[in-house]
Amino acid sequence: MTKLQYFFSETKNFLIGAEIVPSRGIIPLEHHDKISDFAETLCQDDRVHWISITDNAGGNPRLSPSFLGEMILQQGKSVIIHMTCKDGNRNSLESLAWMYASEGLDNLLVMSGDYPVAGDRGTAQPVFDLDSVGLLSLLSDMNRGLRMYGRKPGSVVQLSPTEFFLGAVVSPFKLTEAEQVMQYEKLELKIKAGAQFIIPQLGYDMRKFHELKLFMDENKLNVPLIGNVYKLSGPVARLFHKGVIPGCIVSDSLMEKVEKEKKSPDKGKAFFIDLAAKQIVTFKGMGYRAAYLCGIENHRDFDDVLEKAKEYETSDWKYFIPELLYPNSGEFFYYGKDEKTGLSDSSVRNVRPGAGDRRKYRKYVSPAYRFSRIVHSLIFSKRSLFYQSRVNSYKFLEKHKTLNKLSYNFERAAKSLMFNCHECGDCSLSDIKYLCPQSQCAKNQRNGPCGGSLNNMCEAFPEKTCIWVKAYGRQRYFREKTTLLDRDPIIKDNSLKNTSGWANYFLGRDHQAEKHRFND
Ligand code: SF4
Repeated sequence: MTKLQYFFSETKNFLIGAEIVPSRGIIPLEHHDKISDFAETLCQDDRVHWISITDNAGGNPRLSPSFLGEMILQQGKSVIIHMTCKDGNRNSLESLAWMYASEGLDNLLVMSGDYPVAGDRGTAQPVFDLDSVGLLSLLSDMNRGLRMYGRKPGSVVQLSPTEFFLGAVVSPFKLTEAEQVMQYEKLELKIKAGAQFIIPQLGYDMRKFHELKLFMDENKLNVPLIGNVYKLSGPVARLFHKGVIPGCIVSDSLMEKVEKEKKSPDKGKAFFIDLAAKQIVTFKGMGYRAAYLCGIENHRDFDDVLEKAKEYETSDWKYFIPELLYPNSGEFFYYGKDEKTGLSDSSVRNVRPGAGDRRKYRKYVSPAYRFSRIVHSLIFSKRSLFYQSRVNSYKFLEKHKTLNKLSYNFERAAKSLMFNCHECGDCSLSDIKYLCPQSQCAKNQRNGPCGGSLNNMCEAFPEKTCIWVKAYGRQRYFREKTTLLDRDPIIKDNSLKNTSGWANYFLGRDHQAEKHRFND
């Protein structure tokens, strides 16, 4: 058990974490820089229980989090290292994880990561071999003792288990029903895949943070929930308001208030400190286990926020709520509003399974999808009468090279015409309502949406609708009651590239086969 895990499981203390964003460039050992000096002062501060270090935040290259992580660990403070999937494939992530485990950097916050926006001489090629759920699954396998084939044929060896304390992120600040419901479904899958603590993305509407707490309580997702407190400044508020930083939301009503406060002699500094302090006190009151302070670059501001929060601790936290409600106009709430407090009321649900608004979701139901549904139920479903005959026919085709090639070419033509198939060979069409994650999702997300969509549109390509929004729409249109992510995590097998996805499915070679449960 890591020290941080111990704080969460064995104490009732409300914990405080601080975020550090490494800079791009060398930190000379003898001189240090502004960021490492700030990290050192945080290490001396007994009110701080851990320091989090981001991993190429915003998709920009920066100093690896392990450098500052080791420095902080040596000073006796717990560290959370952010680990993302954008810059490395599963092997490089596993190798990084072995390094973190060997260095004692055992607390990891796992995310898919922002789409790369920078790099030397142009933009970097994003990787996304795994998504956040896939990476959580890998790290959980390592915690159980990763199993792999030994040298002797058929032998299996088990590596020493790691002791990672794994966290994940969720956004309660999505604007539409499709985005929000999918975020919550993915949250459940992340916890199933091994997430042991949760940090929501930043936002400034306490009703949304309360909604997340109620959702987790209702669904018995009993892992520590950590409140995200991002201390704003005028320029940052404007950036967030424009929606240019994925997942960071400042509403019109908050922006109006910020513009007013910016005219004061201190340019709104007291307001920003006060807002952050009130958020901390309210998170504590609502039953969050910790507050995670971001957006602060010097210890004086950090101290001001915590001192202000201490001052407010003697007041009833509910008193602050009216000052912490900055909703976006027309946004979706999973639960109704408690008119007395202004927070959420879980007895009123705004999503009723099966009660779909068909007109609203018709635009996502293409003729290709209607056709695919029929073909799926007739041929691909394991309950179909023709399923076994297809298995037999693929066994036959495997033995006849020319026929097999013809069949593969037919599949390629049909799938590329209907779904813009990129021939990954480990087909997820049936998992995502016949939308291809390989060709239509910038981050190849097979286990639910990333956190970056904005008002239904994709983080990386804002002119395109997120495939998970479309998939949700198709499900609602046909009034299906099951959830899209009530299943095991999907991890694509790259050895199947340029082979027949249909053959791989019917012959048990793709992600739907039992062999992929090797490390369960
Ligand atoms: S399609 Fe959706 S899940 Fe994929 S990158 Fe875009 S916003 Fe993220």
